[in-house]
Amino acid sequence: MSRSAHPAGPRHADVLPDPHPSGAPADLNQLDGAIWPIAAERIRGEITLAGVPVTALAERHGTPTVVIDEADVRARAQEYVVAFDVASGNKVYYAGKAFLCTTIARWLAEEGLCLDVCTGGELAVALAAEFPAERIGVHGNNKSVDELRQAVAAGVGSIVVDSSTEIARLNEVARVAGVRQAVLVRVTVGVEAHTHEFIATAHEDQKFGFALGEAADDAIAAVLSADSLELAGLHSHIGSQIFDTSGFEVAAHRVVELAARVRDGHGVELAELNLGGGLGIAYVSGDDPQTPAGIADRLRGIVHRECNAAGLRVPRLSVEPGRAIVGTSGVTVYEVGTVKDVRLDGGFTRSYISVDGGMSDNIRTALYDAEYTCALANRSSTAEPKLSRVVGKHCESGDIVVRETWLPADVGPGDLLAVAATGAYCRSMASNYNHVPRPPVVGVRDGGSTVLVRRETQDDLLRLDAGIAAIAGTAS
Ligand SMILES: *Cc1c(COP(=O)(O)O)cnc(C)c1O
Repeated sequence: MSRSAHPAGPRHADVLPDPHPSGAPADLNQLDGAIWPIAAERIRGEITLAGVPVTALAERHGTPTVVIDEADVRARAQEYVVAFDVASGNKVYYAGKAFLCTTIARWLAEEGLCLDVCTGGELAVALAAEFPAERIGVHGNNKSVDELRQAVAAGVGSIVVDSSTEIARLNEVARVAGVRQAVLVRVTVGVEAHTHEFIATAHEDQKFGFALGEAADDAIAAVLSADSLELAGLHSHIGSQIFDTSGFEVAAHRVVELAARVRDGHGVELAELNLGGGLGIAYVSGDDPQTPAGIADRLRGIVHRECNAAGLRVPRLSVEPGRAIVGTSGVTVYEVGTVKDVRLDGGFTRSYISVDGGMSDNIRTALYDAEYTCALANRSSTAEPKLSRVVGKHCESGDIVVRETWLPADVGPGDLLAVAATGAYCRSMASNYNHVPRPPVVGVRDGGSTVLVRRETQDDLLRLDAGIAAIAGTAS
């Protein structure tokens, strides 16, 4: 079934599809290449990631484990570098919030990407990775004075300013540090992008940026008159998991229009236009995201045409993919603990398959009604397909990892399940709910695996509990 056949928006767990909208796939053992890492395959029935069998990963690293295919990350990063012609001065920023650790920061530095961070914590990881500071951009609608100081002291390439309070605050921080800080002004262009549609509006009712018009004009004037700030460009980010480039195209038009107004009003030509991230990936069969080359061609074409029409020098174009770089490279491996059949109206039986993680390592299903693809991983099976729901171990009925899936009817305790496309916004949004330790992130490459972020332990959880010291004190 094609994703575009239904509109964007939440679908509710309590509305049972009758009949179930997507029939079972012909072969449950098949891995859709659009959803799984490039090198994922079944060897003797078992899913193997970059040459490492999932049973070996589970044995060595335990479950659940988030597995990231290094070659897959690098290949996707390169695709963007080539598509956006980084060699000619354009920039591809990896949005670190999708998932950030020092190793991945280093891979992406090597591939020629820049890096977006939006908190002091993300900046600390980038700096610990020795990511070149001039290639770091800093985002956020409420950066603290400390975070601004940290960024300016590190010598970050640019800071995206988001409010008039921040313009004044950053100007002061830069003045005290004795530097002239390059900034981009974040504008909201009145384009609200969803996966399947976009809405162009005059006003946007959200917390980020300056609305086009008076707010953006005033912000630009404020930056231009701030002694310690240098206006490097404009920034726009329209949403996430976008499949259709038309929203980006409208945004590009409007941002170039504003750049022309800045030139006319202030005599300043801007060096950079950043169109943000949000490029979609395939989570389930039928999802059909645009290729980086296709997106780049359209956006560069528009910016060139509009700039030529306005007599503007074509600025550097930048984009900020997060999900599109690491999303599909990640797979979460869980072990099945229990299987329970639940009878539903209409003669359905749904198998509730409980795994050893859940909303603490993947909140997206509960939060966004996200859809995922999941497969029996430690073996293939010829058993009948069974309507299944993969659930976690947390004390919430909404603790669902995969809401609707078909799995072989013989899936049982001890089997491994692999959930695809969990590289972005899963481990980075992980919590310790129910005091479940967060899973490790393991890199795979050429038949070997390396821990990138180790598994949290119960000791890690107890370490933050200041009462322990007091109890230990009374005991001795
Ligand atoms: C979240 C975000 C991104 C990355 O979004 P993806 O959907 O992961 O590509 C890029 N830029 C900004 C400003 C963001 O907030």
